[in-house]
Amino acid sequence: MEDIRNIFCIGRNYAKHAEELGNEVPSEPLLFTKPTNALALADGSVLSFPATKGEIHYELEIVLKIGKDVEEGDSLADVISEMALGVDLTLRDVQSKLKEKGHPWLRAKGFRHSAILTPFFSFPGSEACKEIPFSLTKNGVGVQRGHTAQMIFSFEEILKECDAAFGLKKGDLLFTGTPEGVGKIADRDVFVLYWGEEEKGRFRASIA
Ligand code: ZN
Repeated sequence: MEDIRNIFCIGRNYAKHAEELGNEVPSEPLLFTKPTNALALADGSVLSFPATKGEIHYELEIVLKIGKDVEEGDSLADVISEMALGVDLTLRDVQSKLKEKGHPWLRAKGFRHSAILTPFFSFPGSEACKEIPFSLTKNGVGVQRGHTAQMIFSFEEILKECDAAFGLKKGDLLFTGTPEGVGKIADRDVFVLYWGEEEKGRFRASIA
């Protein structure tokens, strides 16, 4: 993960997830970033999370890795050759307070181990992705299951928007949003991330 540069994330990219949190479905992508210090690998490790910041929510997401510095006219296929599954963690109570004050989300979205990644695997293209569900289990029970066909903004649109706004370079990551079913993490919960039927990564939570 040493070659990862910037972590860009899109919020509310699945209508049912926006609804479950009582948020409006956005008309343009809601974008935020995480520091690279937030990265952790879902390789079976125990990952520690803060015990004194209120509820911590998991959000399963598809993560695209930018494989080259993006230039005008590049297509998605030119730019993306690898993907991963990720969990975007949110300190939900902290985020609610920040939203009330109109403050940035960084404290709620950028804490240690808040950007969890499986190992990267080859990206089959956005059409093929629509045929493959991605899912998350918590202690053996399915909690989130999504299809990219349910996304509000497509991979292509997110790529275009992020490149126009920030410029995208080799090693940048795009967290592409979470389907419905987000929920709370408790101490000792075990999470497993699946691409289709295939396990791609797992981690155990330690909250102390
Ligand atoms: Zn998210």
